[in-house]
Amino acid sequence: MSRFVYLDNNATTPLDPRVLEAMLPYLQDKFGNAASRSHRFGWEAEEAVEKGRAQVATAIHADPKEIIWTSGATESDNLAILGAARMYADRGKHVVTSLIEHKAVIDPCHYLAQNGYEVTFLTPDRTGRVSVEQVRQVLRDDTILVSLMVANNEIGTLNPLGEIGAACKERGVLFHTDATQAFGKVPIDVEVMGIDLLSLSGHKIYGPKGIGALYVRRRNPRVRLQPLQYGGGHERGMRSGTLNVPGIVGLGAAAEIALGEMPAESARLAGLRDRLWAGLSERLTGIVLNGNVEHRLPNTLNVSFLYVEGESLMMGFNDIAVSSGSACTSASLEPSYVLKGIGVGDDLAHSSIRFSLGRFNTTEDIDYTAERVVAAVNHLRSMSPLQEMAEAGIDLSTVQWAGH
Ligand SMILES: *Cc1c(COP(=O)(O)O)cnc(C)c1O
Repeated sequence: MSRFVYLDNNATTPLDPRVLEAMLPYLQDKFGNAASRSHRFGWEAEEAVEKGRAQVATAIHADPKEIIWTSGATESDNLAILGAARMYADRGKHVVTSLIEHKAVIDPCHYLAQNGYEVTFLTPDRTGRVSVEQVRQVLRDDTILVSLMVANNEIGTLNPLGEIGAACKERGVLFHTDATQAFGKVPIDVEVMGIDLLSLSGHKIYGPKGIGALYVRRRNPRVRLQPLQYGGGHERGMRSGTLNVPGIVGLGAAAEIALGEMPAESARLAGLRDRLWAGLSERLTGIVLNGNVEHRLPNTLNVSFLYVEGESLMMGFNDIAVSSGSACTSASLEPSYVLKGIGVGDDLAHSSIRFSLGRFNTTEDIDYTAERVVAAVNHLRSMSPLQEMAEAGIDLSTVQWAGH
């Protein structure tokens, strides 16, 4: 029997049918502009937008007034980092982040570094965690912002967020976190964790693409951001533009569902993830788990398969959607900067696969995947020059990979 298994839920998730159902009226009859104050179409749209705001706020223990709608987490990250850096430039120009943040955080930080700011990129430990001591050590009187993710998208490692938030508070430094992967999977509380700015996205939580939100703290302290775009002054002047009402309705519904189902669903996903790891590790030698076994997302499993190359391995099971740490970019084969950032050698990074499980995966999907992957690894290894080289005593970390 042939099946197709989707295990790339950290890249994007399918729309939950309940979310689609909530959105449909707003793609049809309820098409009003939420900024239209003079008729029922506008009022109806505004009501839906405010409901979505409350649903998202509840999920992170915020006030609805602290939620700003954006087009996704990329925009939220940019608005938080550039908006705060520009607003508080007179206080200082030092920003702290890490080497393994999403590109939506790294790239605005690089932009700042090229435009008169100083950015410290912390190196996480071998499991992908940044410690509060590391953060404390680099905070200075001119530090205005720390940006560290809740959970890493490639390896699933969770940062000690509450401790880092508290350390930032002590020094009066703003704390931004990219919660795109963690939102809906692990509990997040902006008060308990001392978060001032938080990015999230609809399409990673079974909501639609093209909608996201930025939490912006309103008291203790009141955070202000310089907008990235100017226009009608929507969203407290921080993000002008007609609101994506169906998207907002979808993100709100998706957040409510994720929050309600989180305890049971997290346990279910962790069980499937562990079943997959057992299915691989009990049948294969020479495999390594990348990430942190204790502090991690329930759905993410990143594994390196010695002596095989990730992209070739993926081609060995084209009925299973996963992603590899050796993404092909144009002519060169650059291994994942996240794995490099935590000190994984090129050989192991090139042989890594990320399995990211989701709401619609079943036990059968997992058993099928383990079987297919084991077969593909054994097949490739039987033909692999790398395995022969390793058996002949050659240190593979000294091998020069194409593209370097
Ligand atoms: C997917 C993702 C983003 C980008 O989100 P978009 O809504 O697609 O712009 C940012 N950060 C992390 C950690 C992600 O996983």
